[in-house]
Amino acid sequence: MAQAQMRHPIESGCPDGFQYMHPTMRRNFGQWRYHEHPRPGVLKHVAHSGDEIWTVKAGTQRILDVFTLRKLCDIGDQFADGHVRFTIRSNIEYMVDDAAKVDPLINALEDAGFVVGGTANSVAMISHTQGWLHCDIPGTDASGVVKAMMDELIDEFKNCNMPNRVHLTTSCCQINCGGQGDIAINVQHTKPPKINHDQVANVCERPSVVARCPVAAIRPALVDGKPSLEVDEKKCICCGACYPPCPPMQINDAEHTKLAIWVGGNHSNARGKPTFQKLVAAGIPNNPPRWPEATAIVKKILAAYKEDARDWERMNDWIERIGWPRFFEKTGLPFTKYHVDNWRGARNSLNASTHIRF
Ligand code: SF4
Ligand code: SF4
Repeated sequence: MAQAQMRHPIESGCPDGFQYMHPTMRRNFGQWRYHEHPRPGVLKHVAHSGDEIWTVKAGTQRILDVFTLRKLCDIGDQFADGHVRFTIRSNIEYMVDDAAKVDPLINALEDAGFVVGGTANSVAMISHTQGWLHCDIPGTDASGVVKAMMDELIDEFKNCNMPNRVHLTTSCCQINCGGQGDIAINVQHTKPPKINHDQVANVCERPSVVARCPVAAIRPALVDGKPSLEVDEKKCICCGACYPPCPPMQINDAEHTKLAIWVGGNHSNARGKPTFQKLVAAGIPNNPPRWPEATAIVKKILAAYKEDARDWERMNDWIERIGWPRFFEKTGLPFTKYHVDNWRGARNSLNASTHIRF
């Protein structure tokens, strides 16, 4: 028997998305007249042609096993029109072109244990990074934090009770992905890296590690006759940027790696400038598998926002209106000396110019 021919890989990036789109969306691409929000988790779009399409959104985890994916696809084949997409916040969306299909689809999703919601002024699914499952530098998990928190915020996901939408993010190290939202739960290292001098020369490219430090705290050094590195601990801001290119500079630590919560981050849009988030709680225990301390603080902030913000105010608008002192009063979070940013070194040492340094 002739040997099966192997298919040559196609090295031209991701495939054209149009071929997977619902035909009604493809036909009316860029030609939508308006959209409505008939109930939490459902959007209705109406095109200039008169075509209508309903989108049903259900929360899913970012890292899906094949059995769950098959179950989701079977629901799509049976109750929707066989077209789905995943959103940037790991939700699945089903598109149907008939209003009569919406309720049976929602029932099928809920019977299978999925939660429909996350649209308009709800708490959307937490946007999260990869954590222990994929990445090589996390100081905590991401999927686990998201699961633990969303279990507690399920009613806020299913209902539209917030003044405006709320985006939450998590970040499992202090330097890379994640970490910009209305509420961001980020790793916070609290001690400088600990160097294993026996391994530095074999594993690390020392000049790139030195260049990586934002405050120039790393210097080349000879330790026991071997080339290594040393850290000026007075300068070090415990950011962890040296750890990815040089794993012998271990910074993750069961006791000293904590979580911090920042609020008020928002991207710019047609009406406003970007806003930068500010630290509101630091030194929170990194406490798997349920992270109860971090979840309790997120719930406190959400409760104060829900109670006090005006309709349509995002988290940053609300805080800007009431001021930071009132924010701490209303949320009951303690204001400590760690909230005062008195670090003066940035101007001299952070990348403040357009020069690229390696
Ligand atoms: S946030 Fe950091 S640790 Fe987490 S996945 Fe991104 S790079 Fe990895
Ligand atoms: S943790 Fe950050 S500040 Fe400290 S030595 Fe490493 S790169 Fe520099």
